[in-house]
Amino acid sequence: MPAPNLVIRGQQVVLPGSISPASIHISGNIVTSTGSFDDVPADCELIDVNDESIVMPGLVDSHVHINEPGRTEWEGFATATRAAAAGGVTTLIDMPLNSIPPTTTVAGFKEKLAAAGGQCFVDVGFWGGVVPGNTSELAPLFSAGVVGFKCFLIHSGVDEFPNVTEEHLREAMPELTRLGAVLIVHAEVPGPINITGIRNDSPAAYATFLASRPRAAENEAVDLIIKLGQEFGTRVHIVHHSSADALPVLGEAKAAGIKITAETCPHYLTFAAEEIPDGATEFKCCPPIREAENRELLWSAVADGTIDMIVSDHSPCPPDMKLRESGDFLAAWGGISSLQLRLPVVWTEARRRGSSIEDLVRWLCTAPASLVGLAHRKGSIAAGFDADLVIWNPERQFKVEANTLQHRHKLTPYNGRVLQGVVEKAFLRGRKIYDGEEFIAKPQGVLLTHASGE
Ligand SMILES: [Zn+2]
Repeated sequence: MPAPNLVIRGQQVVLPGSISPASIHISGNIVTSTGSFDDVPADCELIDVNDESIVMPGLVDSHVHINEPGRTEWEGFATATRAAAAGGVTTLIDMPLNSIPPTTTVAGFKEKLAAAGGQCFVDVGFWGGVVPGNTSELAPLFSAGVVGFKCFLIHSGVDEFPNVTEEHLREAMPELTRLGAVLIVHAEVPGPINITGIRNDSPAAYATFLASRPRAAENEAVDLIIKLGQEFGTRVHIVHHSSADALPVLGEAKAAGIKITAETCPHYLTFAAEEIPDGATEFKCCPPIREAENRELLWSAVADGTIDMIVSDHSPCPPDMKLRESGDFLAAWGGISSLQLRLPVVWTEARRRGSSIEDLVRWLCTAPASLVGLAHRKGSIAAGFDADLVIWNPERQFKVEANTLQHRHKLTPYNGRVLQGVVEKAFLRGRKIYDGEEFIAKPQGVLLTHASGE
């Protein structure tokens, strides 16, 4: 074991299975060992963390829309990864759509890698996409290093990433099973979606939008994915789950041994439809934020493990596409910006429901790392893992001021909210990348692809 060049120690260090006083020994990029608080070899740099702060694995966010190349004016690698660093996120996985080209071919993936190269302040991996007719691209994309594949069961919002139907999935899923690749699914089907029936209602009323995307659209989609997952043995995952009605079948499918997991997002666990002001389109996302009663059922499912993880689904757009002036919920772009705020938002809500720091680490670090095949090097503080850490104070509060966010666009429904938990420092592979207000000057994130040896 090489001698450490850096030791970080604190009174509250989150190691697998414990939170205790400990020292973390780091050599270069890697944690070489963890030891007692006083176990500090001579001749290495020592960072002492104050007693109130927690030292935790850097967050992994497996659901981020960066949109570069092609729609960089929506969000780009430089701005998104700076926001990630400021939020304690040391690994993020970029979604295969909204960029042009989308990541549905190897050529598209190469363009994405070329665009991202040299710009990233944190480590970045990539999802590929399943779209009608690209089954022959899946194996080469997977060997080039995408972590898995995403599909939509309903219009994705952009025409260059068309949705699939059951028929398309019957073609793609045997190939995904053969590859051992996970399929992540935007689980709403078009049948129950009702836009035309509500045309006469006010489009600026949140209730109008909510009625247009009922729980049934999600419930039917989850049923379909469970059925196909069982039939083809594909590892499947439901993204941004919102409908509490589908939780019992999700739980039953897991208990029956079907290889299925699910995520939800901070906004579904924080806001409630009843409280969203008319015209406040910064709250629009699909599936929608539902009622307070639905939110509490989602929390129960997160607590009991039916929902495995909480990821941001950071999905920004230029502010004018949110149509704030007309407040038209039906026509506005759907997507919520929260990459930088995931830790304090989730902690604020989790703490008042009695959840623990260990729960937080499972939802924000370990489970997403596992989903994307990085559980051997990300999401835990342990020997042999990348030395990715976030140091944060769970007792301090702050008020969200949109203009302090590093996201390219500042519009967010969290503006003005008081949150619990302040990120103080972030380390990426043994190097400090964020220190309060300051960022390191040069982006040092790597692109996590097989081809790069990462
Ligand atoms: Zn998304």
